[in-house]
Amino acid sequence: MANPKFLNFIDGAWCSSKSGKTFSNINPANKDDIIGTFPASDAQDVQKAVESAASSLEEWQKTPPPKRGEILFRVGEILQNRKEELAQLMTREMGKILREARGDIQEAIDMAFYTAGEGRRLLGQTVPSELPNKFCMTLRDPVGICGLITPWNFPMAIPSWKVFPALICANTAILKPASDTPASATKFVEILLEAGLPPKTLQLVHGTGPEVGTPLVKHPQIELISFTGSSQTGQEIAAYCSQHHKKVSLEMGGKNAQIVLEDANLDLALEGIVWGAFGTTGQRCTASSRLILQKKIASELTHRLLNRAKNLKLGSGLLSSTEMGPLINQKQLEKVSEYVQIGQKEGAQLLTGGHPYREGECSKGFFFSPTIFTNVHSQMRIAQEEIFGPVLAIIEVEDIEEAIHVANDTSYGLSLSIYTQDINQAFHAIRAFKSGIVYVNAPTIGAEVQLPFGGIKHTGNGHREAAQTALDIFSEWKTVFIDHSGRLQKAQID
Ligand code: NAP
Repeated sequence: MANPKFLNFIDGAWCSSKSGKTFSNINPANKDDIIGTFPASDAQDVQKAVESAASSLEEWQKTPPPKRGEILFRVGEILQNRKEELAQLMTREMGKILREARGDIQEAIDMAFYTAGEGRRLLGQTVPSELPNKFCMTLRDPVGICGLITPWNFPMAIPSWKVFPALICANTAILKPASDTPASATKFVEILLEAGLPPKTLQLVHGTGPEVGTPLVKHPQIELISFTGSSQTGQEIAAYCSQHHKKVSLEMGGKNAQIVLEDANLDLALEGIVWGAFGTTGQRCTASSRLILQKKIASELTHRLLNRAKNLKLGSGLLSSTEMGPLINQKQLEKVSEYVQIGQKEGAQLLTGGHPYREGECSKGFFFSPTIFTNVHSQMRIAQEEIFGPVLAIIEVEDIEEAIHVANDTSYGLSLSIYTQDINQAFHAIRAFKSGIVYVNAPTIGAEVQLPFGGIKHTGNGHREAAQTALDIFSEWKTVFIDHSGRLQKAQID
């Protein structure tokens, strides 16, 4: 099988790692299918990337924002034209089914067009002064060189959430994509260059978290780290950044829940549960890993869900018949298996699944059967910890108050959902949920780029990606006072 060689993009040129070391990336649905060989970079490559990013800052900052936006607009157009080819590659390297891979790229397209428009806005404010003949306004300043560290589960959407707003705000950036999905990231950077991005404005450095991510976080010239990944890694990054006064935005794990009340449309809820729990093989930060059912409808809905989960078609995401692809790698397969054992030891009842799936062609990949536990209590580890696989924990409750209490009863705070036809109950939940995102009569997944995305508690650190809120991550507010009175005026005193 062909084994294409991919490269870093540093200092305006495609290049190998300085050490010459490489790593291979494989298709998680078929370990024999090698996606390619990539540079195994380290601190030396990061150093060169930072020097180049620093050298291009001034020029990029002089480029008028509408011109920066036009480049992003062209990126959106190229992504649109190449959507199918990019989706095929993404499915091969990440495993998500083709329909979802197209959605991943569509999110990057949406983000490109949305952020391109910001080139003609980047709005500041004019604000009245308390003193006469004094003018007050706010402007957005760039932050500097941004280190962007992304996970593998949205190989193009998440880089787009970081790279586009970083660039529109006149920063230069270094992208370190997950080493499980480096090919999609490479295509993404190729497209930015094809769209006319000045070459030294964006650098791409492949390699692992410890070898590339850590030097990036620790580099003194990097002013901002934007990270999406696990809470554990995020916490380490945040600790370093706070000690060294670096700006840091973190999007981390989730333990999202769907509540179904007894008055809900159960057909609709069932569709939402299957999509929320098993879409992307449960590997979304917003995946519904807990299902909170009011007792009266619990047994009927569980029975119908079991039927659906047992019949989900597993296989290569490239086949149109496939409904669920593989897990990302062997480590994740082991982690999910371990959580099944933990759940059983805790006394939860395994209704279906709970093991790797090795039928036919699936024996070549990291497939795991859709798994459902019942008799779960909120304090069990399978109800508290992020598993990141197709594992759903069902918790039964008496009423909406108990449902909301259970939904909020984790250290995470990303996405919560409620199914009910009662508007009063829906609004009660909207207010009471402790999460960054709430859905009513829809599952916990389904971001749109024009709305803020992110979570509270252990999920985030107060920032929101996408929408206008992303600009607050990638720019610094500058407050300007212009006194045209010709005399000294003292605020709060005169
Ligand atoms: P991860 O292990 O934390 O890795 C995320 C990224 O950080 C990868 O590029 C990784 O590199 C890098 N990295 C690892 N250790 C590092 C270190 N010490 N310093 C700097 N960078 C380091 O997370 P993951 O397993 O890839 O992704 C799954 C997690 O992401 C889940 O917890 C999920 O909930 C979360 N996620 C959150 C959101 C959100 O918006 N809230 C969205 C998607 C995913 P390598 O992997 O290449 O070594």
